[in-house]
Amino acid sequence: MECVIVDGEVLDRTVAKVDIEDRGYQFGDGVYEVIRIYNGKMFTGKEHLNRLVESAEKIRMKLPFSTEELESKMEELISKNELDTGIVYMQFTRGTSPRNHVFPASDVAPTFVAYTRKVARPVESMEKGVRSILDEDIRWLRCDIKSLNLLGNLLSKQKAAEAGCFEAILHRGETVTEGSHSNISIVKDGVIITHQADNFILNGITRQKVLEICSNENIAFEERAFTLDELSSADEVFSSGTTVEVMPIVEVDGKPVGNGEPGPVTRNLQNLFKAEIERQCGN
Ligand code: PLP
Repeated sequence: MECVIVDGEVLDRTVAKVDIEDRGYQFGDGVYEVIRIYNGKMFTGKEHLNRLVESAEKIRMKLPFSTEELESKMEELISKNELDTGIVYMQFTRGTSPRNHVFPASDVAPTFVAYTRKVARPVESMEKGVRSILDEDIRWLRCDIKSLNLLGNLLSKQKAAEAGCFEAILHRGETVTEGSHSNISIVKDGVIITHQADNFILNGITRQKVLEICSNENIAFEERAFTLDELSSADEVFSSGTTVEVMPIVEVDGKPVGNGEPGPVTRNLQNLFKAEIERQCGN
């Protein structure tokens, strides 16, 4: 039996139900998180749960559970499903009420669902690197919120997939923001450059962990917006995210990055990131 959580209760997935007037379903009115599981343990779990609370606050939604309660519920689900390597997905919507753009009354409780899925580490792609396309960033101006409104991301990712690519690198005019489902960094003369954490990007937990590693290891980095020209003359480009970890990008719009192979700075970060996973979750 595959277990899921609906409103705090652990259920068999086949009997779990959400109402057709759930606001997540009708408006995308909600927030979510994806947490990586290695060896049955959550990696950077607290950071993800804190971001979930922050995302909820930004859309004026109060979560009915504390981060400690959520953490123990996720642990219960991971253990019930005997998950070793994968993800846990969790989502809160503003609840169920007759369709109306205005928020429902305060006694309408948010809907909470969570499930797990087996997801292997993408070792082959991480070894060889992946291809990408460029796409105009048409999303709204609050990309810092991990909200259920992902249409802009979906349209770009679909374009990338149809071009046989892993990621779409998004740009607003000349400025690169992030990827359709990951953060983007470039490396120039040994310095890592990645967009500052503001309303134009999701401040990835992986991005933050990579920058923390850089600080500890004295690897130079700059948090600032970079341009399409800087992207096309970068020595290395990489994507970072919960499921993809540190992923080398070796081609942008059909043009090789550097010599078309994953570069030394990205390789070093991949190794340091793996060491951090092993430190937190064992090996
Ligand atoms: N940016 C976007 C648009 C994303 O969807 C994601 C991950 O899903 C990220 C960045 C990376 O965030 P994280 O490292 O927290 O997974």
